[in-house]
Amino acid sequence: MKMRSLLFTCLAIILAGCKPAAETPAEKVAESAAKSGKPQVLVANYPLQYFAQRIAGDAVEVRFLAPKNEDPAFWQPDEATITAFQKADLILMNGATYSKWADKVTLPESKVVDTSAAFANNLIEVRDATTHSHGPGGEHSHNGTAFTTWIDFKQASMQAQAVSDALAKLVPAAKDDISKNTEALKDELEVLDERMSTLSRRLVQYPLVASHPVYHYLARRYGLNLKSVLWEPDTVLDGTALGDLNVVLAGHRARWMIWEGEPSKDNVEKLAALGLRSVVFDPCGNVPASGDFMSVMKANVEAMEKAFQ
Ligand SMILES: [Zn+2]
Repeated sequence: MKMRSLLFTCLAIILAGCKPAAETPAEKVAESAAKSGKPQVLVANYPLQYFAQRIAGDAVEVRFLAPKNEDPAFWQPDEATITAFQKADLILMNGATYSKWADKVTLPESKVVDTSAAFANNLIEVRDATTHSHGPGGEHSHNGTAFTTWIDFKQASMQAQAVSDALAKLVPAAKDDISKNTEALKDELEVLDERMSTLSRRLVQYPLVASHPVYHYLARRYGLNLKSVLWEPDTVLDGTALGDLNVVLAGHRARWMIWEGEPSKDNVEKLAALGLRSVVFDPCGNVPASGDFMSVMKANVEAMEKAFQ
């Protein structure tokens, strides 16, 4: 039997053009499930990966399949990846229209958990956004429901609880650890929430500009007076970009710009010439280059505290 399947594999390799066919994500998930015997949890973004991993420890295998260089909110998984989602034991979605791809495919309903369902009535609708493009995903618009839900740390905590409930159902044997880990995670999120809330008393004095419209929930919870342009950290600030900014600044005398990632030195200097300083608040929708969700969020809050002393 083994010999026969080996023969088939060889044949498949030959047919595929004389090189080993790359393993698809679905095959990897199936192989890993077979090897470890652990339930497979697939997630829509990095914050959910972090929450699920911290909460479940090694009781499950958590997989986040979006490429590192893409915004998971505008990601279009290929067919093999969609199959991997369909075969998962649990699918953790962000909700708030985060995974546009999921509208067009059938996922096993009983396995899908919308982690923002608890605050579904309190989502923000964005109306005046125009289309723009960044990354390999092509043109997109931020019109519709704002989806960066977790940078309101109260909402992040509710999402962590939804992850926890789903995991406890999936692996009841690990229930005690799950509940302990959830409390620890929620405590840390609460500290971030408190620090931002304290800061919000000072923040109300500062009109702010965001480089990209992803801060709606942060602005709502912590009272930021925020308007947005449609830039990326590596956008070259040419005449058009600075023109867009000047339109915003005309009625909104901001002196700070919030960036998703470290802006280039050139951009910092161009903004400084307009009287704007730069501060980074990374929403961390994808895996960070260093550290993890919590260390990135702590750095965000620290940067804000330092900027608005
Ligand atoms: Zn965008």
